[in-house]
Parts: sequence; structure tokens; C-alpha cells
Amino acid sequence: MNDQALLRYSRQIMLPQVDIAGQERLLAGHAVIVGAGGLGSPVALYLAAAGVGRLTLIDDDVVELSNLQRQIAHGEADLGRAKVDSAAAAAQALNSDCRIDVIARHLDEMALREAVENADVVLDCTDRFSSRYAINRACLGARKPVVSGAAIQFSGQLAVFDLRNKESPCYACLYPAGEAGERSDQEMRCAENGVIAPLVGMIGTFQALEAMKILSGAGTPHQGLSTFDGLSGEWRRFSVSRDPQCSVCSVKG
Ligand SMILES: [Zn+2]
Repeated sequence: MNDQALLRYSRQIMLPQVDIAGQERLLAGHAVIVGAGGLGSPVALYLAAAGVGRLTLIDDDVVELSNLQRQIAHGEADLGRAKVDSAAAAAQALNSDCRIDVIARHLDEMALREAVENADVVLDCTDRFSSRYAINRACLGARKPVVSGAAIQFSGQLAVFDLRNKESPCYACLYPAGEAGERSDQEMRCAENGVIAPLVGMIGTFQALEAMKILSGAGTPHQGLSTFDGLSGEWRRFSVSRDPQCSVCSVKG
């Protein structure tokens, strides 16, 4: 790091849990962010600002007017633009040293596996069960840690699946695929159910924090499932264990 970088990241470097070595790891780190919407916006902005060296943004959507209420990486001038391009420009404006690659199409499982292969951490910022399962399978195959976030209406949740560890539960241990298939008609999405704006910021920044811990080595990854009820302001924590019968991770285990 040169003097400029030492100054730029000084408020992180002065944290003993990060220090110069941790900041160097952040600068050498590669985060793959799937979804450049409400959760992906704060994730991309914070990771770029904080000095994560490389980001890959994946999203096949374009910016619409109804996104602007909460997807803060996009502005009015970005309407109609690919979300990955808009978010990359916003993140790049914060930190020109960050390498940002964009993939503006939907990835099937094979392509996703390829995309996460050289990631150090993957952030699931999507809002569909099908995408969450595909990310889970790809990251299980590649043994990558996944920081998963979700936000709908006034409710948010976060879980970290550290799939580097074979004893870790996976997303399907928490939400078995069979059940989700059965309830896929009732899938909760912001487009149909609404979401209060700052909630995606809270969960997204929580995801960014967990990703930075994984990249820098500070602290320990979040355990279990945290849920937040915005109406009461209450956080809750549930333990999540690996399901030995899990149709996804027990087969490959
Ligand atoms: Zn599992």
C-alpha cells in the first residue's frame, strides 16, 4: 500500500482486527455479488469504498422507476440502463482503484459455477428462490462462503453459509428445496409485496460487513440465521444446523 492508500483506509487499518495485513487481504479480495438491486446496491458501494480490490456484479435486469425508492446505486439518469453498469459506475465513482467486472445476463448453474470459481466470497443479493438455490449449489461445488440476505415488506434476514467448511449447513438445509418448490407460487418478492426502503440498506450493509470479515479475517463469520422485524425493531437469532438428509449438501458431502 502506498501513502495514499494508507490514508484512505486508515480508519479500518487502525482497527487491530483489520490492521495493515487485513486491509491488504481486502485489497487482494474478490467478491462476487449476485443481484444489483436493493441489497446489491449497498453491498457494491460499501465493498468498493472499503477497499475490496475486485468486484464482479451479476444481474440481468435494467433500472426501472420503481427501483429508485431503495436501490441506491441507481439514479434517475440510469433509467433503462443495465443495473450492473449503473451499479458499477456508482461504485467506481467511490473508488477508482477497485476492479469491477459486470455480467449483464442470467447465469445458469454451470455459468454461475464458473463465475464463483475464483471468488473469495459470494453475496446472494437476489430475490428469487430459484436463484438462491442455484447460487447455493454453485458455491457448494466450488466450496465458497456465501453471505445471503433477504428483505421483504418490513422483514429482513441474513445468514452466512461458509461452504469452505464441510460441516457447514447450506441454504437448502435451512430452506429445503422440496418445500420451496411447493410454495414457489407464494414466493415473496418486492415487486408484488412491497418493501420499506432502508430495510434493504440494513440487510445489505450487514452482508457487506460479513463479507469484509471473511475477506480480511476479522472476527468470526455470522452463525445461524438473524432476522429483523422493522415494525418492532427486533432482531432475533436462530441456530441453523447441517441437515444430514439435505438433498443438496448431503449428496455431495
Ligand atoms: Zn444442505
